[in-house]
Amino acid sequence: PMIGSFVYESLPGRVVFGAGAIRQLSEEIAALGLSRALVVTTPAQEDLAQMVAARIGGACAAIFAGAAMHTPVGVTEQALQLVNTHQADALISIGGGSALGLSKALALRTDLPQVAIPTTYAGSEMTPILGETQDQAKTTLRDPKVLPELVIYDAELTLELPVGISGTSALNAIAHSVEALYARESNPVIRLLAAEGIRSLASALPGIAADQRDVSAREMAQYGAWLCGMCLAGAGMALHHKLCHTLGGSFGLPHAETHAVVLPHALAYNAPAVPEAMATLRVVLDADDPALALQRLGRTMGAPASLRELGLAESDIETTVERTMASPYWNPRPLERGALQETLWRAWAGTAPA
Ligand code: NAD
Repeated sequence: PMIGSFVYESLPGRVVFGAGAIRQLSEEIAALGLSRALVVTTPAQEDLAQMVAARIGGACAAIFAGAAMHTPVGVTEQALQLVNTHQADALISIGGGSALGLSKALALRTDLPQVAIPTTYAGSEMTPILGETQDQAKTTLRDPKVLPELVIYDAELTLELPVGISGTSALNAIAHSVEALYARESNPVIRLLAAEGIRSLASALPGIAADQRDVSAREMAQYGAWLCGMCLAGAGMALHHKLCHTLGGSFGLPHAETHAVVLPHALAYNAPAVPEAMATLRVVLDADDPALALQRLGRTMGAPASLRELGLAESDIETTVERTMASPYWNPRPLERGALQETLWRAWAGTAPA
């Protein structure tokens, strides 16, 4: 293929990568001149926040372990009071996309520097994107203020992440790269990152399924998650994300699980329109049928197999098709009602993608 014309924007940020990298945290924050950090996390990850606080000693001003899914503004306001009371000069988040969402929401309001220590594969640490919720409405924004200044990837902190969550959060990450391969804003640099991100995650997951505490598989998965996060930051998304957004927003389906179920079907829908992306996927997934390979990867990780299993009623398929057709959205293959109905029915029933 020809290289063509494109725009590529690289984002600033320092990454410290490797099993045991958390030992460099004190040194890293001292180098940034930070001395009063607020450590934020989700309730279930409070022990990780305590560990961070113990490592940095006097440089921890306070811990806030109340981060919640979808970054509710009410929670952000509570944490903001702690920032003010302690005159915090930095934000450290540890955990998944929910912990990071709170840190980003605080950075948006205070412009404080952020250190992100991700322990899932969602990839939010690489993006200037923030989704917040207020009164059940979700808004998404892009602002350089919400991009973390420093990211520490330490695979040792991910050994307790259950196989199921590892799988769904990895498929969420892979979805960013799959859509980046055929995005309207795609470019050769992003495609390179996307291919390597998918290859790394897909090759790491079976090792994690076999042994949750396999450090080298965990490292490979984190490397893939990093690259997939860069793809979300750098390219617009298409049908797959549109469907997941509609299913999450209209029927409250869970974020990562919905991505895991829908991705093979959305890819099968787009396949005829994106031959080059399919050729790349055949290579990086080492499979003749990339959509089927992604579905099998999910099953290996014990991911849910169907939208029915996630609680969607069969009659909700039609509503989803209506809502998807109603708001125009760029996609490599035009949205055709009949084909879309078939795709959603397959995702609902959990059949092979076609
Ligand atoms: P999450 O943060 O809610 O974590 C998922 C689960 O993993 C939780 O149950 C959590 O307790 C558990 N967990 C996290 N770390 C663990 C560890 N070390 N050991 C054991 N369990 C652990 O969700 P997520 O899947 O990481 O992220 C999804 C959220 O992030 C969504 O709200 C999504 O919208 C957002 N997101 C945002 C961006 C962005 O660029 N803004 C990108 C991706 C995802």
